[in-house]
Amino acid sequence: MSKKVIIIGSGIAGISSSLKLKSYGINSIIVDKGNFIGGRISTREAEKNSSSSFFFHGAQFFTAKTPEFKKIISTGVNEKYIEEFGNFDPKRYRGNKTMRDFLLNLSKELNIQQKVKIIGIKPDNYKIKVLDNNVKEWISYDGVISTLPAPQNSELLNQFPSLQKTLNTGSYHACIALMFTFEEIPSDLNTYYDFYKKPGILSWMAYGSNLNVWTAHTNEAFSNLNYYKDENFLKEKIMSSIKQFFFSSKIKFHSLHVWKYAKVAKKCLGPQIDPKHTVAIAGDFLEGPNVESAFISGNKAANLIFNRLK
Ligand SMILES: Cc1cc2nc3c(=O)[nH]c(=O)nc-3n(C[C@H](O)[C@H](O)[C@H](O)COP(=O)(O)OP(=O)(O)OC[C@H]3O[C@@H](n4cnc5c(N)ncnc54)[C@H](O)[C@@H]3O)c2cc1C
Repeated sequence: MSKKVIIIGSGIAGISSSLKLKSYGINSIIVDKGNFIGGRISTREAEKNSSSSFFFHGAQFFTAKTPEFKKIISTGVNEKYIEEFGNFDPKRYRGNKTMRDFLLNLSKELNIQQKVKIIGIKPDNYKIKVLDNNVKEWISYDGVISTLPAPQNSELLNQFPSLQKTLNTGSYHACIALMFTFEEIPSDLNTYYDFYKKPGILSWMAYGSNLNVWTAHTNEAFSNLNYYKDENFLKEKIMSSIKQFFFSSKIKFHSLHVWKYAKVAKKCLGPQIDPKHTVAIAGDFLEGPNVESAFISGNKAANLIFNRLK
């Protein structure tokens, strides 16, 4: 089917939308404002041009309950760009060797352009016009899937009141990620530390692509109250919490990343596609606070768009 469809966001929801459309014979284009693919499944180099040390400062692992996502995992495991993480039941997975590798492999047959920020979307009879900050001229599409986190999506879709209504029903928790390395790797190190439901400000701490690169995440209570505060204040608070666990080892601060919209606190309820125009929304905010949910919502958006266009 020769229809022109644009997907906004190269996170897992955008990638799954594009893969599903491709299975129906529709070749979409994905655009994303970031430098790299993946959105909140993010990977950062520990040193410039390093090929071996990467932090995973967004999603730490993913799980699979649905047949669709299980199929993705099993292909990735067979082709060695997904590996099992830890020893959990149900099983947890990561990209191999980085989270980015998971997405790069999953999307290798898709058309993706990074560093393109969409700044406007408007209806235009039976088409949709989209404006980006590079070309700066309105371009016409037959269909649009927008996968930004719900509050940003709501701002962008201000000409589509029924989608805005859906997007305004949900909410997110923030999360502050501190990336660090060791001067010397401690001998008694685990691969992750789970602080869920434990006192303190941390929720989780785990290694990245090797045992020297680590990310610590703050818990929901601390993150929601403090995410907008001064970076040095946040850095000191998190560093002193980490040091309680590795007091004999020298820890080197690398960087801080604040996620204002990290994990879904309340899902959005309402229609996923505009009643009149071929514009759909997708993302974790529709299905739940994890990678698999975002993937499923992308599949659903693609089905809705395909049924409208056929
Ligand atoms: C710190 C943290 C820890 C997490 N831990 C886990 C975990 O362990 N396991 C798990 O399953 N899930 C975890 N999650 C949740 C998981 O990462 C998300 O649910 C999932 O990645 C969301 O995918 P998405 O495609 O819906 O959105 P996103 O990944 O946010 O993708 C949206 C994309 O839209 C792009 N964008 C935004 N505005 C524009 C614009 N105007 N123009 C163009 N592009 C734009 C962004 O750059 C982004 O790439 C975690 C999230 C965070 C932040």
